[in-house]
Amino acid sequence: MVTIDDIAAAAERIRAMVRETPVKPSASLSRLAGGTVWLKCEHKQDTGAFKLRGASNAVARLGDVAGVTTASTGNHGRALAHAAKQLGIPAIICVSRLVPQNKLAAIEALGAEARVIGTSQDEAFEEAYRLKHDEGFALIPPFDHPDVIAGQGTLGMEILRQIPDTATLAVPLSGGGLLAGVALAAKSLKPDIRIVGISMEKGAAMAASLAAGHPVEVEEVETLADSLGGGIGLQNRLTFPMVRDLMDELILLTEDEIAAGIRHLAIEDGETVEGAAAVGAGAVLAGKLRAGNGPLVLILSGGNIDPARHAEIVEGVS
Ligand SMILES: *Cc1c(COP(=O)(O)O)cnc(C)c1O
Repeated sequence: MVTIDDIAAAAERIRAMVRETPVKPSASLSRLAGGTVWLKCEHKQDTGAFKLRGASNAVARLGDVAGVTTASTGNHGRALAHAAKQLGIPAIICVSRLVPQNKLAAIEALGAEARVIGTSQDEAFEEAYRLKHDEGFALIPPFDHPDVIAGQGTLGMEILRQIPDTATLAVPLSGGGLLAGVALAAKSLKPDIRIVGISMEKGAAMAASLAAGHPVEVEEVETLADSLGGGIGLQNRLTFPMVRDLMDELILLTEDEIAAGIRHLAIEDGETVEGAAAVGAGAVLAGKLRAGNGPLVLILSGGNIDPARHAEIVEGVS
């Protein structure tokens, strides 16, 4: 169980470890959405993504450990490496071969080992599990952990403090740690807020699991929103029920719609974001998401994209 009190405590605990990120209005998206659209610029967070919030909260709550480990599509691993370095403990980050090179380099630049295992999040997770059982590491999963969810929830508190009349909050959705935490915080502070989750059409494990009524596996496919890939875990305990109960609407996007979001945010708003972070803009551009009776806030969740890839997408080569 995660409560609003856990999120408030997390905000205190990680205050010195994370940045308060800015919000800014988007004139072009506001026109298209029929109401004010705000961009929550969490891609400006240290390590380039919101994942630092959950990782910092989880690491700050550890006792004595041999080190920390996780399996991650990139941004959580990078965040955990950063948080572990602040605590002065070793980190081994287990990743699949689908994870882009720039993300591996970023983990290693933080003094952690990036251990490349298998072709799926689940295979990488087995190695992290082994490190926990054989070598005394603390395994900090990317989303299905109360301290991680509470840490991500601090982003929801921050948004409601910055834009108290937020009517709709659009949240990139993968394992659901972000949506679960943000939705819990936002609905505690403003019960009538509308929480919209956004994933890609192909390989979205949470969408398939919600449709099935229980956690299911999906085949992992390459997507522009690489941070939204990976399973939710067949043994999912927390994020599946929280997303099911707290999310009001789910939007799925094609690869072209995600690319359009990246391009628009770069050209019209001057923001360099990765695919996962562009889904809110992509949904507005596709006519799948509109502002209701009040401001629409899009979470730009991360900015870790290979610069050459970003340039290709912006130029429309992809
Ligand atoms: C991890 C991540 C997400 C999705 O977060 P979940 O908690 O797995 O749903 C979205 N955007 C970015 C940039 C991420 O790194």
